[in-house]
Amino acid sequence: MRHVISSYDFSREEFHKLFELSDEILGGKLKPNVNGKVVSLAFFEPSTRTATSFATASWRIGAKVIGFTSVEGTSVEKGENFADTIRMLENYSECIVVRHKFDGAAKFASEVSEKPIVNAGDGKHEHPTQSMIDLYTVYKVFGQVDGLNFALFGDLKYARTVNSLLRALTRFKPKKVFLISPQQLRARREIVQELNYEVIERDNPYDVISDVDVLYVTRIQKERFPDEMEYEKIKESYVVDLKLVEHMKKDSIILHPLPRVNEIDRRVDKTPQAKYFYQASLGVPIRMALLYTILTG
Ligand code: ASP
Repeated sequence: MRHVISSYDFSREEFHKLFELSDEILGGKLKPNVNGKVVSLAFFEPSTRTATSFATASWRIGAKVIGFTSVEGTSVEKGENFADTIRMLENYSECIVVRHKFDGAAKFASEVSEKPIVNAGDGKHEHPTQSMIDLYTVYKVFGQVDGLNFALFGDLKYARTVNSLLRALTRFKPKKVFLISPQQLRARREIVQELNYEVIERDNPYDVISDVDVLYVTRIQKERFPDEMEYEKIKESYVVDLKLVEHMKKDSIILHPLPRVNEIDRRVDKTPQAKYFYQASLGVPIRMALLYTILTG
């Protein structure tokens, strides 16, 4: 199997295949077993959900897990370079899941490794397996991804999950895609321009919220701001609160890749629209389906 670097690496059929495999796993119809193949975790940047769900997914398909979720204690601290680290893991495992703060790190890893690389987030570039979870959640709730109104809300400039989701949506037929953010956090032009659908950009969520089926919220990506002062100016500039949710359709949903900081008021968690913890729970079956597909060719 090839590497998974971008949402563009998946066709519409492949997304659907993954959703179906994941459904079979959740329903107990498929019990994947890769007989002790080894998955490496190479996390050069912090992670909670992605690292732990990849580990759980690996164990549940009968794989063994090696690697690190923090560079502390590895030879990276002695100055070993990224390429050499990847080359070592390539010798010890059948697949390498990489997270790094630099855009393009996963692509670079795929150039030095014969073994499949899975991008678990590279800087502000992409996080394709998050989009698989996002769209699988939509598919579980609505029975399909096509024909819905999406609104991506928050930091659309630095959030890699936004880039991956916008690209993944090119494989489907969204009805409308709204991009809601403060001016300073608008989606990057080069991403918007390459899409095969129109986007509608707004500052104020109230302009469109009653039309939205899927509200996808992101936190402000503090660690990606080149200038801390810029972050200070913009932090807490938007929030999803009960007042906003009241304007949403009864059967609409709120997603968030998590972690949440304070862009979703905790009281929203109890509303029927809040699906972000359910979404996080789907990280395990979808990653089981993905790793199983990769490891069994
Ligand atoms: N966990 C996601 C990521 O790694 C979202 C976030 O950190 O805001 O990109």
